[in-house]
Amino acid sequence: MRTPLLAGNWKMHKTPSEARVWFAEFLEANPALQGGGRAAVEVALLPSFPLLPVAAEQLAGSGVAWGAQDVSAHSFGAYTGEVAAEQLADLGCRYAVVGHSERRAYWNESDALVAAKARRAMEAGLVPILCVGERLEEREAGRAVAFTLEQLAGSLEGVELATGEELVIAYEPVWAIGTGKTASSGDAQAMAAAIRGFLAERFGEAVAARTRILYGGSMKPANTAEILAGPDVDGGLVGGASLEVASFSAMVEAA
Ligand code: PGA
Repeated sequence: MRTPLLAGNWKMHKTPSEARVWFAEFLEANPALQGGGRAAVEVALLPSFPLLPVAAEQLAGSGVAWGAQDVSAHSFGAYTGEVAAEQLADLGCRYAVVGHSERRAYWNESDALVAAKARRAMEAGLVPILCVGERLEEREAGRAVAFTLEQLAGSLEGVELATGEELVIAYEPVWAIGTGKTASSGDAQAMAAAIRGFLAERFGEAVAARTRILYGGSMKPANTAEILAGPDVDGGLVGGASLEVASFSAMVEAA
C-alpha cells in the first residue's frame, strides 16, 4: 500500500543552469517518468532554493516531484533570509526536508525547532521529510534505537496527523552520510520497524501503516535493492549518488 519514494537531496550543489540541463537529461533517460502517471516508485528531487523555479518549470506534468531541503519555522514576516512554507508550496513543491543532520549539526537545530518546521510545512500543504538518526557514538554504545526514537519524539512535538496529513520519516545514521559506509539492510530494517512501532503508538496503526520510512546514508546503485528489501524500508534519501543522471537513474531502476 506504500509507494516507495526515492528522493534526491542535492544539498548545496549545482547552479540553476546546470539544473536545467540535468532535469532534461534525467527525463530523457527515464521515459516512464515523463508522463504524470502513477509509477511503481515515486521520484522526487530536492535542490537548493534558487533551483526550485527551474524544477517547477521543467518537472511540471512529469512523474517527478520536487521539494526543498529546509523551510522556515515562521510564517511570513520580518525574518531576513528565511523561506516560508507557502512560498515553497506556491512553487509546486510537494516536500520539504526538516531536521537533516547537517542542519542539526552545523546550525544547531533542536528537536523543538525541527518540530516547528514540520508543523509549518504541513500547514502549507507540504509533506515534511523529517530526518532522524544516531551518531557513531550512540551506535557504538548500543543506544541507536533509543536515541533515534527520542529524537523522533522531540521532532514530532505538536505534530498532528488526524485529518489525513502526510509525513515521511528518513532514517539517516549520521556516520553513514557521505562516508561510503551504509547501515546493513538488517539494521536499516530494524530501525524502520522501531520507527513504525513508535508511529503506531503516537498516531495509531492506520497512520503508521501508511507512513513512508526512508533510509539515507551512502545509498548508491549497487546497494539500493538490498537496502529497500526490508519490508519497513519504503525508499531512500539519496545525497551524493543523486547528483549524476546515470547513478540516480540506475537507482530508480533498482528500486
Ligand atoms: P549521502 O547523503 O547519500 O551522500 O550519504 C544522504 C543525505 O544526507 O541525505
